[in-house]
Parts: sequence; C-alpha cells; structure tokens
Amino acid sequence: MSAATVEPRTPGLHVAAAARPQTANDRPTISFELFPPRNPAAAPRLWATVQALEAVHPDFVSVTYGASGKTRVTTRQLVRRLLRETTLNPIAHLTCVGTSREEITTIVEEFLDEGVRSFLALRGDPPVDQSDWVAHPDGLQTAGELVELLRQIEAQRCATSPSQAVRARVRPLSVAVAAFPRGNHATGGTRAQDVASLLAKQEAGADFAITQVFFDADDYLGMVAEARDAGVTIPIIPGIIPSTDPARLVRVQELTGVPVPERLFDLLGSADDELDRHRRGIRASVDLVNGVLDGGAPGVHLYTFNQHHAVLDLLEGAHLDGGARTAPDLASGPQITATARPSRD
Ligand code: FAD
Repeated sequence: MSAATVEPRTPGLHVAAAARPQTANDRPTISFELFPPRNPAAAPRLWATVQALEAVHPDFVSVTYGASGKTRVTTRQLVRRLLRETTLNPIAHLTCVGTSREEITTIVEEFLDEGVRSFLALRGDPPVDQSDWVAHPDGLQTAGELVELLRQIEAQRCATSPSQAVRARVRPLSVAVAAFPRGNHATGGTRAQDVASLLAKQEAGADFAITQVFFDADDYLGMVAEARDAGVTIPIIPGIIPSTDPARLVRVQELTGVPVPERLFDLLGSADDELDRHRRGIRASVDLVNGVLDGGAPGVHLYTFNQHHAVLDLLEGAHLDGGARTAPDLASGPQITATARPSRD
C-alpha cells in the first residue's frame, strides 16, 4: 500500500516524513510496560493489546509485579505466555517487599527455569497500611542487593551446570533497575540520593535503567547529566506515559508523587471533544519523546496501562513505529516536526 493511500490510526495525527530510521535494529529502542490482568475477564483484552504491540517489534516488554508480591502467580503466567506464544522479549519485574532472601531465590529460579533472561530489580514500596519501608527480617534492603542476588543465583547455576553455562553465554542474564528524574517521591529520596542509588545498582551489576514517569524532557536530561557526572555509564531509558487522559494523569500523580504540570491539564481540558483531547495529548507526548531523543536518549519505554491505542498513536506520531501500522501522509505537509536524530548513548 502506498504511503499516500494509508489512513492514519487517528485522523489528524498525520506527521511529517522524518529522517527517522525505520527498522527495528537502527531506530531508538521501543519497549512497553504491561501489568498482569486484574481478573480472568480482563485477559482477552490484554492479549489483543499484546498482539497489537507485537506488530511494532518492540525491543522488550516489561511485566509488573504487584506490591508485596500480590501478583506473583499472574506475573509469572503472563511472562510465560509471552515467551511461549509471541516473539516478544519479556522482562519480569521483581521486588523485595515482604519476601525473604530464600523466597526471592525460589521466584528467580522459577523464572529462569521458564527461560526468562531479563529482570527489572526493584525494592518496591511498603504495603499501603505501612508508612515506612521495613525490609523482611531475612530479606533485602535495596534494589542494589536484589541485583547482586540475581547475579549470584546466575553464577551458581552456571557453576553447577555446564549446559546452563553455555546457555548463559548465548543468552546472558540482563538486569534492569529503576531511575527517578525528579527523585523518588515515594521514598522521599532527592535526585542526588537516587543518583547515588543508581550508581550502587550499576556497581552491583545492573545493565540499564528505566525511569519513572516525567513530563518535562529537562527533568530526564538533567538527571542523566547528573548521573553521568557521578559515574553512571549504563543506558537510562526514559519511561513515558501517553498524556491523553486527565483522570489517569491524576491517578499517576497520586501513585508516583510526580506532579503533572497544570499546562497539561489546561491543554486537555480545553479540547472540543474526546478525539481532540486525544490528539492534543498525543502531540504533547510526541514533543516529550522528541525532546528526550534529541537530547540523546537511547529509546523510549512506554507505560501502556494495558491499552495499545494511545501508545501506538504516540509511536506513529514520533515516527517510531517502523511504518508497521500506517505510513505518514507525505502529501499533507508537516504537522508534527521530527528532526534527524543524533547518535544515542
Ligand atoms: P532502591 O534503589 O533500593 O531505592 C530505595 C531508596 O533507598 C531510595 O530512596 C534510594 O535513594 C535509597 N537508596 C538505595 N540505595 C542507596 C544508596 N546506595 N545510596 C543512597 N541511597 C540509596 N513497584 C512495584 O511494587 N512493582 C513494580 O512492578 C514496579 N515497577 C516499577 C518500574 C519502574 C520503571 C519504576 C521507576 C518503578 C517501579 N516500581 C514498582 C516502584 C518502585 O518499586 C518504587 O519506586 C520504590 O520506592 C523504589 O524502588 P527502587 O528499586 O528504586 O529502590
């Protein structure tokens, strides 16, 4: 189908043709966060989303782990299904909350036995009825300790099994960690403390970081600059939410403590109708994506909330969907201008 005859996913989101690499291997990385279905009825809709996301060939998808390990079973089921039934590369989130070192070791062994090779190591937040963080008496204090434990478990498996050692050479264990562009409001951590924590996680063996949501490219770029000055060398992938739904933004603000700028609420609030609001939100998010990529971000990690429409529109607007869904309308002239991208870190 020619570019000029393809309809955009959302009318009015046509974008200018940009010098953006179009194949999965030379474009910025794209990845998505999913959470396990909250109940059996939500599973088919989630799977429809998974299939829609697969079409843009993401580099990985990450699967969250509910506070206090509440979703231990459903996280594992979703990760297993992604491994068996899709071409996607899943990253399993893990937390230290309410879990002994021995229990975490068992959980990690289960994932490794399933063929999972990538983890996002997190400390996690205290349960809602508990204000301060208290580690399990036989548990881990920080995400850095979890990174170390993951490396130890893998080393032990390789030492005791020559076959595992070969597999580990072919598909090395990959460990990601969290980073916080404005400091972690949930822990009261300042940006400087979280940069120190990120450095400790790197020293423990982390391969890359994914950030908390943020709404201003300078928050991400400033944190990356501070981290580089402190000696952090691992890639830091910006985590981005498509800002199309004011109610969701309020909820994200409550959950993460990251303030949503008033200008964003004003922009969405002054829309004529739902479609206009969606377009405005996508354009603001495309600007954010362009801002971080222009500043040198290696890719983008998109928070999907288990829905694909907005994240795919965002990728299309930022020319990151590899032409998988729709091609830009070359005839309609620039509406969102993307520039050629410099090399990434
Ligand atoms: P840590 O890195 O251990 O940091 C915790 C606190 O200790 C911080 O204040 C930090 O500054 C301080 N600290 C630790 N080490 C040092 C050090 N060496 N020097 C100075 N200070 C230090 N939560 C879930 O429950 N499930 C999920 O699936 C989940 N997914 C997430 C995905 C992403 C991308 C992000 C950004 C967050 C996610 N969270 C999730 C939330 C996360 O668990 C919380 O934000 C938690 O409060 C912090 O976890 P952490 O891994 O950053 O902890």
